[in-house]
Amino acid sequence: IPVEPFDLIIFGGTGDLAKRKILPGLYRRLAAGQMPDGARVIGAARGEMDASGYRDMVREALETFVPEEDRDADSIDTFLALLDYVPIDAKGEAGWPELAALVRKDVVQAYYFSVGPSLFGDLAARLHKHEIAGPQARIVVEKPFGHDLESAKALNASLAEHFNEDQIYRIDHYLGKETVQNLMAVRFGNMLFEPLWNAQYIDHIQITVAETVGVGGRGAYYDKSGAMRDMVQNHLMQLLCLIAMEPPSRFDPDAVRDEKLKVIRALDPVLPHHIVRGQYDALGEEPSYREDAGDPKSRTESYVAMKVHISNWRWANTPFYLRTGKRLKARASEIAVVFKETPHSIFDNEAGSNRNVLSIRLQPNEGMNLDVTIKEPGPGGMRLVTVPLDMTFADALGPDVEEVPDAYERLIMDVIRGNQTLFMRGDEVEAAWAWTDPLIEGWQQRGEVPKTYDAGSAGPEDAMMLMHRDHRRWREIK
Ligand code: NAD
Repeated sequence: IPVEPFDLIIFGGTGDLAKRKILPGLYRRLAAGQMPDGARVIGAARGEMDASGYRDMVREALETFVPEEDRDADSIDTFLALLDYVPIDAKGEAGWPELAALVRKDVVQAYYFSVGPSLFGDLAARLHKHEIAGPQARIVVEKPFGHDLESAKALNASLAEHFNEDQIYRIDHYLGKETVQNLMAVRFGNMLFEPLWNAQYIDHIQITVAETVGVGGRGAYYDKSGAMRDMVQNHLMQLLCLIAMEPPSRFDPDAVRDEKLKVIRALDPVLPHHIVRGQYDALGEEPSYREDAGDPKSRTESYVAMKVHISNWRWANTPFYLRTGKRLKARASEIAVVFKETPHSIFDNEAGSNRNVLSIRLQPNEGMNLDVTIKEPGPGGMRLVTVPLDMTFADALGPDVEEVPDAYERLIMDVIRGNQTLFMRGDEVEAAWAWTDPLIEGWQQRGEVPKTYDAGSAGPEDAMMLMHRDHRRWREIK
C-alpha cells in the first residue's frame, strides 16, 4: 500500500529507542525503496545541535544498530538528507516556534513521543498551543502506558484533551511482528482451524516470553515495575487477546479492537495460588535480581507464571498458562495451542499417542509449526510419531518473498497510512490495568515474597508445579 508524503517528528530523537529502533526502521524502509518522495524526519530533543550534528549522530546510530550487510552507503546518504533537528523543551517554550515553522500542515504529520510518559501531556498541550498539529496529525506513544489504572486514565485524559482517539497510536511492538499478524491470517483465513478453536478441542494454551538478559543497568527503574506491569499487562495480554478473540466481522481497526477488549473483560480474577512470582539468583560473577535492583529486600518479580481463565462460551474451562521472565535459559517467545488427544485410540498402547500442537514462534526466527501425528516409517509395525509441519512462510514462499520487516518498521508505516489495527485503544489499555491492579495489590497486601530461581534455568520450581498439578507440562524453553 503506497505511503503518502509525511513529516515524522521524533520527540526524544536523540534517545536510546530512537537510535536503536525508530531511525534504523525508517532507514530500512528507505533502503527497500518504500520511502515516498517528500518524506521528512525531524528529531526534536533536549540537546543543542544543528541538523548536520544530528545527521552525524544518526549515521553513527545506523552503523551501530543496522547490521553491516543491510547498510548501503548511497541509501544512508539519501536517508540522512531527509533529517532535520530542532532543540526543544517539552516542559518550556524553547524550540516550539522553530518546530512550528518547520512542520508542513498539508501532509501527514506523525509525532512520535519517544520520551518518558511524564512528558506526554506536555507535548500534546504544546503541539496544540503552538498550533502545530494539522488536520492529519497523529501521535505515537510508547510503553509504559501508565503504572496502574489510575495513571493510565490520567494519561489517556491528557492526550484526549487535544487529540481524538483515532489520532492516538499506542505502540506494542509485539503486535508488529509478522507471525502475530499471521496468527490472524491462519485463524480467520482457513476453514481448518477455526471450527476447532474452542474448549471442545483445545486442551490448553501456553504463552511464553522468555529472556536471557537480566535487568542490568535499569534495575532501579525496573524494580518499581516488575514482570507483571512490564510484560504481562501489555505484551502477553495482547497475545492472549489475539489468540482468544472471536472472529471480528471485518479486518478493520475497531472491529478487531472491540473483540480484543471483550476478551480482557471476560478474564476471571486470578486465584493467588494460580500465580507464581520469581526473582533470579546470582550466577558466578553475574549479580542476583536484588543486587541488580539495588535493594536487598526487593519484592518485585523478574518472573511471573499464571493460569488464567476466560469466562465465555468458547473458552469455558480451558486454561491459558502465561509466563515471562528474565535471566532464563533461552530467549524465546512463543504461543502454543495444545489440542486434546483423540477421543479414542484405535492403535494399541505400544503405538503411543500424540497431540497436535500449533506453535507460533515470535522470536527468534519468527515462524509457525503444527505437530502432526503420522506412522513412523519402516516395517516395524504401527508406531506413531510426531512430525513438524513447518508453516514458516519465508521458506514456503521461496526466496522472492520480501524480507520480514522489523516490528517497528511496520508499525511506523501503519501510523503514516493511518491504520490503527495493530495499536492498542485507550479502553483496551484501561481494561488490562483494571484486571492487573487487584493482582498486584493482593501481593502487596499479603506481603508476598517472590521465589528465587536459578539464573539460566526455566524459572522457579513452583511454576513447574503449577502445571504438574494439572497433569500438564510447560513446553521447553529453547
Ligand atoms: P532516553 O533517556 O534514551 O531518551 C530520552 C529522550 O527524551 C532524549 O532524546 C532526551 O533529549 C529527550 N528528552 C528528555 N526530556 C526532555 C524534555 N524535557 N524536552 C524534550 N526532550 C526531552 O529514553 P529512551 O530509552 O529512548 O526511551 C524513550 C521512551 O520509550 C520511554 O518512555 C521508554 O520507557 C520507552 N521505551 C524505550 C525502549 C528502549 O528500547 N529504549 C523500549 C520500549 C519503550
